Amino acid sequence: MSLSIEALLKRSIQSLILEGSDSPQVDAAVLLCHVLDKPRSYLLTWPEKIVSDEELGNFNALLERRLTGEPIAYIVGYREFWSLPLKVSPTTLIPRPDTERLVEVALDHLTPNAQSILDLGTGTGAIALAIASEMPTLNVIGVDYQDDAVELAKGNAKINHINNVEFRQGSWFEPISLSDKFDIIVSNPPYIDGNDPHLSEGDVRFEPQTALVAEQNGFSDLIHIMQHGREYLLNGGWLMMEHGFEQGEQLRHFFEEHGYINVKTEQDYAGNDRVTLGQWVVDN
Ligand code: GLN
Repeated sequence: MSLSIEALLKRSIQSLILEGSDSPQVDAAVLLCHVLDKPRSYLLTWPEKIVSDEELGNFNALLERRLTGEPIAYIVGYREFWSLPLKVSPTTLIPRPDTERLVEVALDHLTPNAQSILDLGTGTGAIALAIASEMPTLNVIGVDYQDDAVELAKGNAKINHINNVEFRQGSWFEPISLSDKFDIIVSNPPYIDGNDPHLSEGDVRFEPQTALVAEQNGFSDLIHIMQHGREYLLNGGWLMMEHGFEQGEQLRHFFEEHGYINVKTEQDYAGNDRVTLGQWVVDN
């Protein structure tokens, strides 16, 4: 059966709608562009072009995966973050647009002579790479517990030609020497409560629980980083972490209990509390 681009898109959008996708047009277009190896503009320019049998077979295989709910980013193997194309895999969280807020907040708090940034639980390397790409004179270190994530992040640095970043394997601060001190420590750790019903909906069903779920109502890793961060921050350095939209108030309280000052919460693009930060000042 021969189908034009337009007819194929129309048919697959209908199937995606029936399966409850909340982004059927984009899903169909991204998958078809991936199979055709063409930009989105191609679909609009050549709607009447006939898709070959081989392309149709490849497209249908990907569409089937999407119809079972698998995230588009895992199907096509990449996701854009801070305008950087990043490879993703099911060992890591898919970078979210809201996490770009953490990058913005970090860039806003860099002093002119800042030298070093640490990103804990870096996954694809998204946050570390975004900051490193903006500030080529900074040394950025990204840490992840998973070997596969470290390899993925290194590959992402290469693809994007970013050289001022280094990735290490280990649990949180484990691969960092106590003599290394940082101007800013950033993290998007797991922060979802294991009983959160949100875990059985949408993309997160396919993402690793280790990147999503934390003990103590989602606070355990946030608190671990806050406790130990004090030993790795330069005087006046900042710790900033992404968190759930209902965790801001509690987290500000924890930051203050741990002796951080100038504690504040920043909102994401939807206006939800998303990033809390505090400054570590010795002898304050
Ligand atoms: N913001 C993500 C979500 O709710 C979770 C990210 C994380 O746990 N660090 O899907």
